[in-house]
Amino acid sequence: MSILAGKKALVFGVLNEYSIGWHISDALHKAGCELAFSHLPGEKIERRVIKAVEPFKPAFLAPCDVSRDEDITRTMETAAAKFGSFDILVHSLAFAPAEALHHPFLNTTREAWKTALDISAYSLVALARAAQPIMNTDGSIMTLSYLGAEKFIPMYNVMAVAKAALECSVRYLAAEMGRHKKHIRVNAISAGAVKTMAARGIGDIDKMMVHYTEKAPLPWQADTAATHVGRTALYLASNLSSGVTGETIYVDGGYNIVGW
Ligand code: NAD
Repeated sequence: MSILAGKKALVFGVLNEYSIGWHISDALHKAGCELAFSHLPGEKIERRVIKAVEPFKPAFLAPCDVSRDEDITRTMETAAAKFGSFDILVHSLAFAPAEALHHPFLNTTREAWKTALDISAYSLVALARAAQPIMNTDGSIMTLSYLGAEKFIPMYNVMAVAKAALECSVRYLAAEMGRHKKHIRVNAISAGAVKTMAARGIGDIDKMMVHYTEKAPLPWQADTAATHVGRTALYLASNLSSGVTGETIYVDGGYNIVGW
């Protein structure tokens, strides 16, 4: 299936082969898309990322801490120089200080709030703005959210607030970017539990996996969870989703619809 033949994607947030961004990249690569990656600066991280994305034969790798405007500018300059223009932007990253996740929400500090919302939500706005001039018409931007945006999830705390802001930002970006002459779509995938580095940072991921496996209407298992997310990402990246923007699409085996 080469529905993305001739398309180019810039992917933010692959850390290793477990990353949701990696599985999205895998689905896009198998559909014929050319890929490039941006990762947090740092030698150790870079080595990990180079190894993880090697099967995708990346066009380039660009270090970028999304909390730094100058990094974002430099990354888009690299994309313009190496890609010319591109079609798909994948935003698959988030961060909150550990203490904000492991202490009561009531104790969230102003600093932790700012950091979590800056890196996990504002970065989508900043990347979309910087990318629009070099993205092609009918392009697609996607981000990753989680059920915590809507429902109480133990320990998700300030990250839940960041995901609510992210989903709202998706709607505002979608409305503006859809009306712009380039008609770029902006959507979120709200993924079920996937065993990744970020999920381990929040804690209880193994317990959560068991809960998903037991409660989700469709099978939701550790070894295939991210593959499901990758398939919906492929739909959002391709023109099969040409009429879809501003949505938060749940890819969680139906877990979010179950009340009891
Ligand atoms: P991951 O740890 O593999 O990826 C998180 C990425 O964020 C890493 O590559 C990390 O380097 C990057 N990152 C953190 N701070 C950054 C910064 N300042 N600048 C640039 N990059 C930065 O974990 P993941 O689970 O694949 O996370 C990807 C996305 O999926 C996140 O938005 C996460 O909230 C979301 N998500 C995860 C799950 C899950 O169960 N794992 C469920 C729903 C949504």
